[in-house]
Amino acid sequence: MTSQKHIAILGAGPGGYVAAIRAAQLGARVTVVESHALGGVCLNWGCIPSKALLSVVELGDKVKIAEDLGLLVQGPVTYDLARMVARKNRVVAALVKGIATLFKAWNIEHVQGTGSLRDRQTISVSVADGATRDIQADATVIATGSSWPNLPQFPIDGQQVLTSQHLLDLDRIPASLLIVGAGVEGCEFAALYSGLGTEVTIVELMSRVLPLEDDEMVFKWDGAEKFSSTSGWKRMWQGFMRSATSSARLCWRTWLRRRAKSRLRISWGIRRRSATMSSLPEFLPCRRSGVWG
Ligand SMILES: Cc1cc2nc3c(=O)[nH]c(=O)nc-3n(C[C@H](O)[C@H](O)[C@H](O)COP(=O)(O)OP(=O)(O)OC[C@H]3O[C@@H](n4cnc5c(N)ncnc54)[C@H](O)[C@@H]3O)c2cc1C
Repeated sequence: MTSQKHIAILGAGPGGYVAAIRAAQLGARVTVVESHALGGVCLNWGCIPSKALLSVVELGDKVKIAEDLGLLVQGPVTYDLARMVARKNRVVAALVKGIATLFKAWNIEHVQGTGSLRDRQTISVSVADGATRDIQADATVIATGSSWPNLPQFPIDGQQVLTSQHLLDLDRIPASLLIVGAGVEGCEFAALYSGLGTEVTIVELMSRVLPLEDDEMVFKWDGAEKFSSTSGWKRMWQGFMRSATSSARLCWRTWLRRRAKSRLRISWGIRRRSATMSSLPEFLPCRRSGVWG
């Protein structure tokens, strides 16, 4: 007689759903607890939706030079952001459905609700109707991902101070956008919105954009302000952030004074979500970068 192991997984992003499928393939009984949507940030509010929108801008850029290639197009290229977002939502929905199908195929149980670790082997889940369900397992995987730090200096309101999630769902192209942080995400949104015609300004603490990427990938930036004709970003400022956000705040104020309908996008990093689970540190030692022990 074989005793099948039961593995419970908290979070169904790429970390959680891939672990779930692999564990099931290796013969375990698997339960996955997810509070929002299968696929997590990557499928719903990150990699996939951003690339779905960017692919339209890339296509538009090609059409802009169509005549040089011998392709005749009548009229200028214009974008309908609401339709782009609707198409992006269809792409996301199809991929989320794909994960649900894989879960079904591998007999993986999906529990919709917010879970917290009660002890090393028990997850307590608040399900939709307010009830609580305890899931006991031989092993637990924490795959709760990360979220934006909600800094008091920049209260995220979804109107003027936005996260990447908001930027993936706008139905109108903003006239201007201030992006704080020129990491991968900040640059990706700069490329997307400047491609759509928004005037984009990026503030970055370091002396160049994409500070964590290889030198060769990034053009040099030695002044306080620089224009890049190839990338399409309109303007960048180097911010000297002694406290977490002081220069960004200063830029924001100056910038808001100039433009009534501007929007700020926050991009100064994310923090792990497991830190927000109050019961976790009591029995699992934590450090800044994650859980250990
Ligand atoms: C705009 C954007 C673009 C990106 N583009 C790329 C890219 O091109 N390439 C790339 O490699 N990466 C990209 N990323 C990063 C990528 O999305 C993340 O690295 C990836 O999603 C992390 O996966 P994860 O499973 O660790 O966490 P997540 O995807 O965050 O999943 C965690 C899941 O856990 C759930 N959860 C959290 N707490 C609980 C709880 N208590 N109970 C139940 N469920 C819970 C959440 O709802 C979520 O679904 C991008 C991110 C963003 C924001």
